[in-house]
Amino acid sequence: MIVAMQEKATEEQIDAVIDAMVEAGVGVHRTTGASQTILAGVGPTSTLDLSKFELLDGVLHVHRISSPYKLAGRAFRPEGTLVEFANGVKVGGKHIAVMAGPCSIENEEQISVTAARVKAAGADFLRGGAFKPRSSPYAFQGMGIPGLKMMHEAAQAHGLLTVSEVMEISQIEPMLPYIDLFQVGARNMQNFNLLRELGQARKPVLLKRGIAATIEELLLSSEYIMAGGNYDVILCERGIRTYETATRNTMDISAIPVIHKLSHLPIVGDPSHGTGRRDMVAPMARAAVAAGADAILVEVHPNADKAASDAAQTLYLEQFDELMGQLRIIATAVGRTL
Ligand code: PEP
Ligand code: MN
Repeated sequence: MIVAMQEKATEEQIDAVIDAMVEAGVGVHRTTGASQTILAGVGPTSTLDLSKFELLDGVLHVHRISSPYKLAGRAFRPEGTLVEFANGVKVGGKHIAVMAGPCSIENEEQISVTAARVKAAGADFLRGGAFKPRSSPYAFQGMGIPGLKMMHEAAQAHGLLTVSEVMEISQIEPMLPYIDLFQVGARNMQNFNLLRELGQARKPVLLKRGIAATIEELLLSSEYIMAGGNYDVILCERGIRTYETATRNTMDISAIPVIHKLSHLPIVGDPSHGTGRRDMVAPMARAAVAAGADAILVEVHPNADKAASDAAQTLYLEQFDELMGQLRIIATAVGRTL
């Protein structure tokens, strides 16, 4: 930690701050410049509440220099994390994985037609929600486990992996036979009990950024999963709420390189929830691949306009085919494959 004192800070005030730091178990290194004193603190600062130092007399500001997340930080695994799946697909390496499918699993025909087409276009994962966190309690809530069985069968038939959202602890066990990747949705990014429980799970976790979460909060949430011993965490940028209303969310493309710098965990771009608009999905998917995303998550439906959820942002199968062709070109340009 760094404590910058005000220019007019007195020796008594500086001594009081040093005493408080020492009392907190922090070793203090003092530098006195021509006009200002800087106190560098070394020790167990990552768990300290720094705001209490900010309130001491004579203090200008206090910065943390060590990161509050240890397991998710880049330094923990400088070479990056590769999340490996049963069929040999890896997320976090040279290959950019593609996760595609409807927002919600609706019926057998919808999910099997989608599976065949996204596989043919080059997708690795079939996505589909069975437990849906809807803003309205009256909206379609998902098919539950019977829907997951349908998705699993369709995925098996085409050699695809499956990803689906888990909303609560009691769903983890019953979902295990049908999914390869647990998705934690934006609304549950800070459901710490769920995250802790997923830390004990034997399957990888796709952790979506919360609607109003900072990147640091996302990384701290991933730390909950990793602290339990499950290091197979994949992060996801899915847009955040800002003052802009032209799109459903504001897709924070810069989160992709920022996360690569701060963390070793792979990061997925979700331009469907990121924009909420079908016509904006392809441009933002292209941007995410160009920015270094390790995977792309896209909502696709054979009859997109009639989708039971998120219809406005869902691509038709033909649009997905076209997008995949574009993404391949961009992937090559940035030294990746798709
Ligand atoms: C979804 O993937 O359909 C979903 C609900 O995503 P999010 O949690 O990002 O809103
Ligand atoms: Mn959706």
